[in-house]
Amino acid sequence: MQPLPLNVFKFGGASIKDASSIRNVASILKSFSGQRLVVIVSAMGKTTNALEVISRAYADGEVELAKQKLTELHNATLTTVKELFGKTPPTLEASLNDLFVSVDWVFDDPPNESYDYDYDQIVSLGELISSHIVAAFLNHEGMPTHWLDARDCIITDNTYREGWVQWPETQTRIIKQVPPVLEEGKMVLTQGFIGSTTENFTTTLGREGSDYSAAIFSYCLDAEAMSIWKDVPGVLTADPRLFDNVSKVDRLSYKEAIEMTYYGASIIHPKTIKPLQNKSIPLHVRSFVEPTATGTEISDEAGDNYPPMVAVEKNQALVNISTRDFSFVAEHHIKQLFEHITTTRLQVNMMQNTAISFNIVVNDIDDRIERFRKLVNAEFKTTVDRDLELITIRHYTTEVANSMRRGKVQLLEGRMPLTLQMVVKEVPVMSRKA
Ligand code: ASP
Ligand code: MG
Repeated sequence: MQPLPLNVFKFGGASIKDASSIRNVASILKSFSGQRLVVIVSAMGKTTNALEVISRAYADGEVELAKQKLTELHNATLTTVKELFGKTPPTLEASLNDLFVSVDWVFDDPPNESYDYDYDQIVSLGELISSHIVAAFLNHEGMPTHWLDARDCIITDNTYREGWVQWPETQTRIIKQVPPVLEEGKMVLTQGFIGSTTENFTTTLGREGSDYSAAIFSYCLDAEAMSIWKDVPGVLTADPRLFDNVSKVDRLSYKEAIEMTYYGASIIHPKTIKPLQNKSIPLHVRSFVEPTATGTEISDEAGDNYPPMVAVEKNQALVNISTRDFSFVAEHHIKQLFEHITTTRLQVNMMQNTAISFNIVVNDIDDRIERFRKLVNAEFKTTVDRDLELITIRHYTTEVANSMRRGKVQLLEGRMPLTLQMVVKEVPVMSRKA
């Protein structure tokens, strides 16, 4: 007998940022009662950012600061819980306490050699906290919910902060653990963003990775559909925080969604689409503010009449590389450069070469560029321009392209039939001397 269809829902940080938001999520879930649901939650609000600050402080030897910030987060969490339940349930309080203590203990030891390892052990706390709270609240509201540890399901390699999913093992574990709970008529609630190595060390899948977690569960369980619940009505033609006159796109093909999200349309994590596409599982992006409205459907069946769509990726750096002896940048140089790009984990969003220079536009993360420059320094001269934006316009028109350039200095441009990309810098505002 075929198992009954199930849906995977993902609720991000904004949807569970405080007590009233969590109540709203519970009421959305109530309207789906009787259906088979796997629910993935992110960390609440800006918790992940707060934990990043904590893990940085610890790595920099500022243990007191790390401890103090952790205590602040613990107190804020307990305040939310109290507001949500009225009276804090003792079992929830105890499990939250255990979680905070486990991180506090880490601080009594010196930092690990690998910052990324420590980061994952600390930052993963956010999803563990939120999932415990939401699961407890759903049960409290009469919705039988099973809290599942995603680290028992999603198995990755040991690339900390960017865990690479080991699909066969992950699939086996998900199939073993999830369906029996659904059979009992319970909802499964688990964490986004986190996984584990086969040696049981916690890993994370990269910032904003909860969407990807939901796609992994959807894929492994052959979900009927996956939904991401957001604070916007669906996929928009541009980020409404940056632009006016944006409109919702009703349908989008997987391919179009991959192109846009890869270049920073922050609506969905870029790795999310592929697993869904492989099994033709439709992805709905919909609003937790207006849960009955139709959002955007991303699937195989979308047409190809698209409006211009804009994605902006901030925090970009343009690295210009040339040979020290002014020789041409030849294939063997590029090969060598890419080896260093790979080891320093530079994420290249655009590249262009001329006879004597090679230009890459990368995400400016930590000290990765500096480490890269050191590695190539003997043979190559490098210069770096920071604080840039990469603007990608799919289905561009001249009008939209010009409006994007206004007030900016353009450093690089790339054109393909459907895509225009530009790397720009804000024009510094000049003021007259008094
Ligand atoms: N909490 C993680 C982050 O803020 C993962 C996610 O929200 O998707 O990046
Ligand atoms: Mg997100």
